[in-house]
Amino acid sequence: MTAPRKPVLAGNWKMNHGPSETARFFADFLPMVEPGDDRSVVFFPPALSFAAAREALQGRPDVRLGVQNVYWEASGAFTGELSVAMAKDAGAELVLIGHSERRHVFGETSDETAKKVRAVLDGGLTPVLCVGETLDERRADRAEAVVTEQLAPVLAILSPDELGELVVAYEPVWAIGTGVTATPGDAAAMHRAVREQLSAAFGQAAADAVPVLYGGSVKPDNAAELLSQPGVDGVLVGGASLDAAGFAAICRATG
Ligand code: PEP
Repeated sequence: MTAPRKPVLAGNWKMNHGPSETARFFADFLPMVEPGDDRSVVFFPPALSFAAAREALQGRPDVRLGVQNVYWEASGAFTGELSVAMAKDAGAELVLIGHSERRHVFGETSDETAKKVRAVLDGGLTPVLCVGETLDERRADRAEAVVTEQLAPVLAILSPDELGELVVAYEPVWAIGTGVTATPGDAAAMHRAVREQLSAAFGQAAADAVPVLYGGSVKPDNAAELLSQPGVDGVLVGGASLDAAGFAAICRATG
């Protein structure tokens, strides 16, 4: 039998909380969340706040850090970009790939996300691949098809062993930063569809090992219900992860 997946509580700070604010956040947050190995707590601070986060997390190996984006090349003339090796050297364990803001604000394609996943795996970090449909796509009854199309180029470049290194985050674009959350039933249905696609590509046992997170207006008052849905292995939280007390409450919502 496959070991149960540990709940993942991840905070994506986007372009918020500079270094000073990061130090203040962790001074407030850490005493509110007991260290424990029954869940995995992860933050994705802005790159410039990474060192402050790492400093604040000395002595708390239960809280891990990731970066919000990387470029797939190893080094060179790519102004404004970060390499996987730099992220690793700075202490990152995970990398967000294909967040809806990367796809829809910065025009990142699914083929580019696949190249980034390849680079992240080659560099020994964990990719957190974000997928999700827009409101128009959902209204056109294409939600599942869009998520399938976003996952396919990534699954095509993975070996069966590498699937176990992947984390997927289902984040419907219409729910991100809008205050509108997918119903627990809709989230569970899409998580089931994602796992079926993973299973079709690599078999049920391999698919069962992949954490699939939900993201989109997760708040302290809806986290427990979302986390209790079958197949929802954790949450990726944007706005509500900026508030120490609010995100601590979400971390305690794992039951
Ligand atoms: C996100 O940034 O991944 C996100 C889900 O944002 P929010 O929680 O603010 O909707």
